[in-house]
Amino acid sequence: MALIVQKYGGTSVGTPERIRNVAARVARFVARGDRVVVVVSAMSGETNRLLALAREIQSQPDPRELDVVLSTGEQVTMGLLCMALQAAGVDARSYTGGQARILTDDAFNKARISSIDGVAIRRDLEAGRVVVVAGFQGVDAAGNITTLGRGGSDTTGVALAAALQADECQIYTDVDGVYTTDPRIVGEARKLDCITFEEMLEMASLGSKVLQIRSVEFAGKYKVKLRVLSSFEEAGEGTLITVEEGRNMEEPIISGIAFNRDEAKLTVLGVPDCPGIAYQILGAVADANIDVDMIIQNVGHDGATDFSFTVNRSEFDKTKAVLESVCEHIGAREIQGDNKVCKVSAVGVGMRSHPGVASQMFRALAEEGINIRMISTSEIKISVVLDEKYLELAVRALHRAFRLEAA
Ligand code: ASP
Ligand code: MG
Repeated sequence: MALIVQKYGGTSVGTPERIRNVAARVARFVARGDRVVVVVSAMSGETNRLLALAREIQSQPDPRELDVVLSTGEQVTMGLLCMALQAAGVDARSYTGGQARILTDDAFNKARISSIDGVAIRRDLEAGRVVVVAGFQGVDAAGNITTLGRGGSDTTGVALAAALQADECQIYTDVDGVYTTDPRIVGEARKLDCITFEEMLEMASLGSKVLQIRSVEFAGKYKVKLRVLSSFEEAGEGTLITVEEGRNMEEPIISGIAFNRDEAKLTVLGVPDCPGIAYQILGAVADANIDVDMIIQNVGHDGATDFSFTVNRSEFDKTKAVLESVCEHIGAREIQGDNKVCKVSAVGVGMRSHPGVASQMFRALAEEGINIRMISTSEIKISVVLDEKYLELAVRALHRAFRLEAA
């Protein structure tokens, strides 16, 4: 008998039929003797619909009122699921974020959970009920409704699992686990049986959209046993997200190839090579609320140097405008930009203990005649910036070079 938190995403509860399927799955766990807390997303497309509705009234919706509107999507699903459970003979009760005492800060639209008082939920569980909680929402100290940012139901699930000290947090979605790379690009991509929190964080921040990044951080911090599974399959173990200890030495060095299409690269040429320059350039970019990713400064020569960095493609024009004003101020020669680039990364904790991964990666790209525009590394990741036309070719070449289809 275990205590399990199950989170169902929007497609898993997208129709009444699917909601009934979820109820049937929950009922099977209950019949086995498990205690189950279910966290639900809004029905697929619903949050987008509510957002569009709000924007029709106010082009920049008031943040507090927007959360009042957005939080209703999950409230519909939790009620419907409880009805489906009751129809299946399972006693169930729904809780909004506020009723579940999920307390957050007051940052509307992107609130962070500060505490969860699980007393009422535990009482219901002990009475033999299934508890269904609305994902993505909480309340601040003043009782205002808040939401946790898009994809936030994952974080609700993990936070509840941590607060209730659940045995496992299961994230049910429309894929059957985490893959070595996107199967739409590499047909031989393989589902991973397990991946570490750190690797999952890198994969998530590099564009793999299976889990909200914050939920992975949360799970790593509170050591929640986290599993990604398909809600459309009866069996299957999904992918377990684990801590690194106890990994098999024989496990592959690289776990996956991640990529991001939405990159843009900017270079400031002929920057004076003196203290404070990086700060003046990136400080202005940060002040404009633009997230910077890779940063490279070259070796100086003749008192000048070049400075490159990448941003999300949607911020390209804005960043360029900021640089143009800074450029004059610091006496840089020229600004170059390219918004037709992408980023491809090899991710794996095995890199820590195996030298030569970078050279293997660069050889595979060279053999395909792919020019590398920028390189950056961390302890468990090597990323390259490439012309966007090479994305598919590079992902396939690297998947093959690291034998990810075979492991
Ligand atoms: N319904 C919210 C969204 O679409 C939260 C979630 O599904 O995780 O972003
Ligand atoms: Mg999601």
